[in-house]
This record gives sequence, structure tokens and C-alpha cells, in this order.
Amino acid sequence: MNRLVLGPHSTDDDVVSTVDEWVRSNVPEPWIEASKNGRAAIRAVRPRADYEAWYPTFAASGLAVATWPVDYGGLDLSPKQARIAESRLAPFNLGRLNPLGLHNMAPALFAHGTEEQRMRFLFPMVANEERWCQMFSEPGAGSDLASLAMRAEHDGDEWVLTGQKVWSTWAHHSDFAICLARTDPGAPKRKGITYFIVDLRSPGVEVRELRHMGGVVDFNEVWLDEVRIPDFYRVGKAGDGWRVAASTLAGERQMVAGSGSGGVDRIGGSGVMRLIAAVKNAHEQEVDRDQSVSPVTADRLAGLVAEERIRQWTNDRVRATIKAGGTPGPAASIGKVHQGTLNQQIQMLATDLLGPEAMAFPRALTWAGSLPYEVSSMIRSRANTIEGGTTEINKNVLGEKVLGLPREPDPFHGQNWEDTPR
Ligand SMILES: Cc1cc2nc3c(=O)[nH]c(=O)nc-3n(C[C@H](O)[C@H](O)[C@H](O)COP(=O)(O)OP(=O)(O)OC[C@H]3O[C@@H](n4cnc5c(N)ncnc54)[C@H](O)[C@@H]3O)c2cc1C
Repeated sequence: MNRLVLGPHSTDDDVVSTVDEWVRSNVPEPWIEASKNGRAAIRAVRPRADYEAWYPTFAASGLAVATWPVDYGGLDLSPKQARIAESRLAPFNLGRLNPLGLHNMAPALFAHGTEEQRMRFLFPMVANEERWCQMFSEPGAGSDLASLAMRAEHDGDEWVLTGQKVWSTWAHHSDFAICLARTDPGAPKRKGITYFIVDLRSPGVEVRELRHMGGVVDFNEVWLDEVRIPDFYRVGKAGDGWRVAASTLAGERQMVAGSGSGGVDRIGGSGVMRLIAAVKNAHEQEVDRDQSVSPVTADRLAGLVAEERIRQWTNDRVRATIKAGGTPGPAASIGKVHQGTLNQQIQMLATDLLGPEAMAFPRALTWAGSLPYEVSSMIRSRANTIEGGTTEINKNVLGEKVLGLPREPDPFHGQNWEDTPR
């Protein structure tokens, strides 16, 4: 299947008819049939392995990254048309695979990579043939990421990396990682960092799984012991990694906020609808707003629906900025702060509505990683205000870079990293 014939000059009607025709010709019939009965029905007939096997068809169409330029696997659609395409795809629940590649690595490659790097990495990334994770955080460097201590030394045409990362989401399933390392300890902390790609199959890489309170392994600690990588895997100039990382972090905030370049809302989007579906599933009966939802609950739901609409508008603005050639920069923090809190409110309302049922799950299921949807989502939502930069840090970014407030004092500003207390 080749790329869809759509582009910036297509009309909205073209988008609708082309996407509908693509669905009819490419989405397996049993999935289409199941979609009439909602997401749970799709999941029942579509094991993850089947979806992964089929996924390259989706990637080849260009619809997985509809706003990306055609040269890199997209369709060059405007944000508005990408949303139209997305609305036609939504019933079939075609989630994007490889989100850390699409949202974290790709923006850095677009902004700071070479054409050779983009051609080497973007296509297998979109097709989910090479999976990506992010290795920025360290035990001593989270909010204060610029303090990071992983070392990278130049050796001929290679770099040699040694150190420890932590919180590395999906490193245990990934082929490549984006990684920040210190190349000049004698420079101020933000100046001596370089941005690398690490092949996780390289000798000297050890990925150790960490199990979180939901009972699932999502993230890892990763140890690098004199891992050698080619200079081709350096993105941007040596010592300029902090600037390159800004593209990644803005992309990550957009992903969490739901304005990512793939055009899919990872956490939000249908959040309120998912809440209603969750309540519906839990009670095994349809929620009829007139009969079974109290005015107080209806009021809370309406508030969340309104918040959700505002979130979408904010994300539309970010997408439009990107489309117009700008970078979302600090504005991406608005959506990130909003979405993290909103999802927690949505999950807490679900828990309130379920009452004791929200807690009544068998212990055995907890450790199998199969908590009922409402409980696992509620627990997982606690991470939304931490991952991708905490809400406090994002508010600092907004205060300083959007509102123009004075910078947070740093008594060690300008001092070399190796002389700064950590
Ligand atoms: C589920 C999950 C997945 C993650 N996945 C990844 C990943 O794939 N790759 C990766 O590199 N990292 C990942 N992270 C790490 C994440 O980026 C860090 O947890 C986050 O940046 C916070 O760092 P920290 O945990 O060291 O907390 P700390 O920096 O120690 O912060 C502790 C508390 O102090 C507050 N605080 C710190 N400094 C300030 C300040 N200057 N002003 C106001 N308040 C402040 C923070 O807001 C927080 O509440 C993940 C985290 C989570 C929870």
C-alpha cells in the first residue's frame, strides 16, 4: 500500500473520502465490524501482536504522522485536516506505536539532525521497526536535568559513554535510546552536554527493569559501561546538547498534553468519554444521564468536558505554531500542566463514582498488571504531573519564559559543572 494522495491542497471532503476509502481497503474486516461495539470489542478481536504485524500498513499510508512532511513519511496535512483524518480513524482505535520516537526523538531530528540522520532513523521509527526510549534522567538529575553526570569521551570517530540512567520508560522493549551525556565537565552545566543516540544492543549496555506501584514494568534503570557509539549518532554539535534536548522536551510535553505531531491524544482527547465508558463497564449497564447521574455528578462531568475543550484549543494553537514553522517552546508547558491535572481529575471522578468498587480488585490481578481499567488508570495518572517535567517545574518555565517573571535564583549560575555541588 502506497502513501495516500493527500496534501496541503486537498479539501476537507477529499480528506474524509480518502481516509474512509483507506479504512475500507486496509483495516481488517473483523476490526471494522468490532468497532461498531466500541474499543473493548476491538481489543477482543485484535491481539497486540496482530496490531503490530499490521501496523506497517498504517505507517506506509502516511496517516500515522499526517502533519509530517511527505519526505519523512507524513502527508503534510494542516493541523485542522489532520484532526479531520483523525476523527475518521478514531472509531477504529488505531493508536500510534513508538510514541517516544515520534514525539521525543523526531522533533530533535527535525530541528537539529542532519538529512542523513533523518533518512536513516525516521522511516523505521514511523513503521515501528525500530523502537525508541529516552535516557535523560539520572538518580541525581531529574528536575535539575542539567546536573547530569553520565560521561561521554571522544575517541577517534567514536564516543565512549559510561554512567547510569533511571526512569527510562520502555528501555526493555527498545532498540535505540536518546541520551544526554557530559562531554565537557569543565564547562558550565548546560554548556558541556551533548545529545546522542545509543544503540541499546551495543556491548556494555545493561537494562534493569523496575516494577511500579501499579504492578507493571514500564520503566528501567540503564547502566552504560564504556559503550562505544559512532560520531554519526551525535545529534547537534558537541556541547550543544541542552539546546537539542529542548526540542525533545517540548515534544514530550506536547505528547502528554495531547498536541503531539502524530496528531493523537495519548492521555486526553476522549478522556471524558473514556470515563463514562469506564463507569459503564464497571456497572455493566448503560449510563443514562437522565436516570442514573445526579445533578452534582452531571455538573462535574460538564466541567471536565469544558476543560477538555479548552485543552484541545490550546493544543490546536501549538500544532498551528509548529505547522507555521515555529517551535512551540515554553507554550507547550501550558498544555502539559493542564492535561496532567485534568487527567487526574477525570480519574478521581471515576473513582468517586465507582465508590468501593474502585478498590475491590483481586490482589492476584494487581501483580499480573491487569488492574481494572479505572484503578490502573487512576494510579497511573499520578505520574502525569511528574513525567515530562513536573508541574512545579513547568510552572517555573511558564512564569519565566511566558510571563516574563524574574528567573529562579541560582547561586552557582555560570560555575563549571565539576566545581558545582550536586
Ligand atoms: C512514569 C514516569 C516515566 C518517566 N519516564 C522517563 C523517561 O522515559 N526518560 C527520562 O529521562 N525520564 C523519565 N522520567 C523522569 C522524570 O522526567 C522525572 O521524574 C522528573 O523530571 C522529576 O525528577 P525527579 O524524579 O528526580 O524529582 P526531583 O527533581 O527530585 O523533584 C522532587 C520534587 O521537587 C520539586 N522541585 C524540584 N525542583 C524544583 C524547583 N526548582 N522549583 C519548584 N519545585 C521543584 C519537583 O516538582 C518535585 O515535586 C519519568 C518519570 C515518571 C514518573
